[in-house]
Amino acid sequence: MKLAARVSQVTPSMTLAIAAKAKAMKGEGIDVCSFSTGEPDFDTPHHIKVAAIKALEDGKTKYGPAAGEPALREAIAAKLQRENNLDYRPEQVIVTNGGKQSLYNLMVALIEPGDEVIIPAPYWLSYPEMVTLAGGKSVIIEATVENGYKITPEQLQQAITPKTKLFILNSPSNPTGMVYTPEEIKALAQVIVKADIFVVADEIYEKILYDGATHLSIGSLGKEILERTIVSNGFAKGYAMTGWRIGYLAGPVELIKATITIQSHSTSNVCTFAQYGAIAALTGSQDCVETMRQAFAKRREVMYARLNAIPGLTCPRPDGAFYLFPDIGQTGLKSLDFCNALLEEQQVAVIPGIAFGADNNIRLSYATDMETIEKGMDRLEKFVKSKLG
Ligand code: PLP
Repeated sequence: MKLAARVSQVTPSMTLAIAAKAKAMKGEGIDVCSFSTGEPDFDTPHHIKVAAIKALEDGKTKYGPAAGEPALREAIAAKLQRENNLDYRPEQVIVTNGGKQSLYNLMVALIEPGDEVIIPAPYWLSYPEMVTLAGGKSVIIEATVENGYKITPEQLQQAITPKTKLFILNSPSNPTGMVYTPEEIKALAQVIVKADIFVVADEIYEKILYDGATHLSIGSLGKEILERTIVSNGFAKGYAMTGWRIGYLAGPVELIKATITIQSHSTSNVCTFAQYGAIAALTGSQDCVETMRQAFAKRREVMYARLNAIPGLTCPRPDGAFYLFPDIGQTGLKSLDFCNALLEEQQVAVIPGIAFGADNNIRLSYATDMETIEKGMDRLEKFVKSKLG
């Protein structure tokens, strides 16, 4: 069969593939410690489920507006104002099937063949693939461990060409967990405004912060940067709602209208009753978010200490998200070989850094229980020792 050329230019998601392999091994009765998926192990908070169940019973089971339920668009605009100091009207918001679809919609609406999109590496693995699918060209800039896995404004400036359309800013970051400080965000905003390019701020981990780190939405810095900012966010990580598939995009009204048109011809509206759960998430108590954050914080301490105690591994201390991204260079193994051998020899599932543009690293998610973390770290330690000889 002759498939469209664009298919050969993208690769299937490595995180989903490894998670699936670990799940299949578990299904065969093998005792696997999985640190592979970026998914909170907590169930969705009860009041959110109750709101969706009520919506279902109230007959919210029909097609809705492609842009999302008006009440949810309003709740999102109010949240962006209240928590992020972002001045968006409800018509500047589209509700999408997860943060993934919001970013995909954006790429399709904004990027033309030949347009360049600047992506700092290590990056979330879907960014370059989405750019490719939209016909654009990814321009990767390396964020070094010495600089806390963050790019400098000078690096951004140097990467900008007349073809640059968009810069992707993901803070807190998947896969490194690093968080840009308000000063660093301000410096990047100056470059963006001066160059007159767009920035998409992927803020999906904004609520998962540690050690007093703060999250600053780049669009809140003033009118000029707000006009060039698109915010992508979702409910999956902060509210443990991965399977609900609800995200959103906010930005200039013309762009949001274009994404609504695209969505109206692809998926139409997000599951109607699920959107009522999302409304409850935004308008209800935020205690559940804090409870989960505190649990992640404890797990981070344990995994971070255990990882750095393993001779041959080094890992910076991240301020956000629920990932650690250690350097495995001293083992002499490249990331894919490391991960395959680790899964086979010690039944521990982690993601190879090559998927994120960093072949000397692996990504571990600590969104799992403490017992698995302790057991998995024992096994990882054994594995690394065996490789170092
Ligand atoms: N952005 C980042 C950085 C992510 O890590 C993810 C999920 O892993 C997403 C966006 C998309 O999340 P979802 O589509 O589940 O809302």
